[in-house]
Amino acid sequence: MSNFKHYIDGIKNGESFFNEEFKLNVILNTLCVVHAVYAILFFVFDMRYLGFYAVVTAGFYQLVRLLIPKKAYRTIILSCIIEVWIFAALPEIELGRECNFSFLLIATIGAIFYFALSWGIYENKELVSFLFSLAAMLEYGALYVYDLIHPLGLFEKSVKPYMQITFTGYNYAVAFIATIGFLMLLHWDMAHRESSLSNKNVELNAEATRDPLTGLYNRRYMDQRIEEKAALMAGEGRIFGIIICDIDNFKKVNDSFGHESGDDVLVNCARVLMSSLRDNDVVCRWGGEEFLIAVDGNKKVTTEVAERIRNMIEDMVVVSHGYTIKITMTFGVCESTPGFSAEKLIEIADERLYKGKQNGKNQVVTE
Ligand code: GH3
Ligand code: MG
Ligand code: MG
Repeated sequence: MSNFKHYIDGIKNGESFFNEEFKLNVILNTLCVVHAVYAILFFVFDMRYLGFYAVVTAGFYQLVRLLIPKKAYRTIILSCIIEVWIFAALPEIELGRECNFSFLLIATIGAIFYFALSWGIYENKELVSFLFSLAAMLEYGALYVYDLIHPLGLFEKSVKPYMQITFTGYNYAVAFIATIGFLMLLHWDMAHRESSLSNKNVELNAEATRDPLTGLYNRRYMDQRIEEKAALMAGEGRIFGIIICDIDNFKKVNDSFGHESGDDVLVNCARVLMSSLRDNDVVCRWGGEEFLIAVDGNKKVTTEVAERIRNMIEDMVVVSHGYTIKITMTFGVCESTPGFSAEKLIEIADERLYKGKQNGKNQVVTE
C-alpha cells in the first residue's frame, strides 16, 4: 500500500513518468471499453444497427493500437478524434436531442489540447488546438440546429425516457471524465517537465561551480565565497584564514609518469584536502596544481590545518598505471586583517607560498 502511495506521489510531483506508448495504450483501451459499453446499451435497447456500429468502433480502437509501435501518433490521434466526431453525430441524428450524444464532442477539445500542447507532434500547436476545437464546436452547433428541426431523430422514433436518461447520464459521464482526465494528464506532463528542468538546473549549477576533474569547487565559486567571508569580517569581525598550496615539482610527475597519472595525483590530493577540512572551511582548485582553502579560524588554527594537510600529503601514496607516486606540497598562510580586501589577502598568501618554494618546498610559510 505504501509502495502504491509512493508511486502515485511520484506521478503527482512529476518524478514518475509514463512514456507515450504506455499512455496511448491506456487511452485506446479505455476508448475501446467505453464503446463496448455503448454497444451493450444499444443492443439492450434493441438498437441493433447502432449496436453493430459501436462494436465496429470498439474494434477500430484495437486496430489503431497497431500503429503505436510505428509511432504514428498524429494519425492515431486524428483518426480517434474523427471517430468520436462521427460517433457523436450518428446516434444524435438517429435518436434525437434528448440522448445528448453531442456532449461527447466536448471531450475531443480536451484531448486535442492535451496532445497538441504536451506531445509536441504539431508544429503550430495553438493553431491546431484552435482549429480542432472550432470544428468540434461547429459540429455541436450543426447537431443542435438539426435537433431543432428533428427533435425525435431521423426516424421520428420515440426513445423511452429511461433510455434517454441512461444515454444522457453515460454521455455526460464519458465527456466529463475524459475532459478531466486529459487536463490531469496535461498537468502531470507539465509537473514532470518542471521536475526534469529543476534537476537539470541543479546539474548545471554543479557544473558551473565545480572543477570536473577533482570535484572541488572552482575558482569562480571560491571568489564569491571569499568575498562573502571578507564582508563578514568587515561587518562582524569574523576572522578567517587563507591557505594557498601548490604541488611541488608537479611538472616532473607529469614528465615521469604521464599526464593521466598526474591527473590521478590531483584527484588524490583533492580527496585529502576535502577529508581534512571542517564544515565551515571551503576548498577549491585555484589553478592547475594549486589549491586555495578558506579556513574558519585565526592564523594559529589556519597554520595547524596547513601543517596537518602537509603531513597527510607527505604520507600519501598514489598508485597509478603501475607507478607508485609520492609528492609534497608547499603552503602559504595568512589571516584576514581589517581593511584588507580578499584580493590583497590572497596576494599575501601567494607571496608566502612563493617564499616556501624558494626555501626548499614542502613547508608551511606564515610570515
Ligand atoms: P613547483 O614545485 O615550483 O610548483 O614546480 P611545478 O613543476 O609543480 O610547477 P610548474 O608550474 O612548473 O608546473 C606545473 C605543471 O602542472 C605544469 C602543468 O602541465 C601541470 N598541470 C596543470 N594542470 C594539470 C592537470 O589538470 N593535469 C595534469 N596532469 N597536469 C597539470
Ligand atoms: Mg607546483
Ligand atoms: Mg603552480
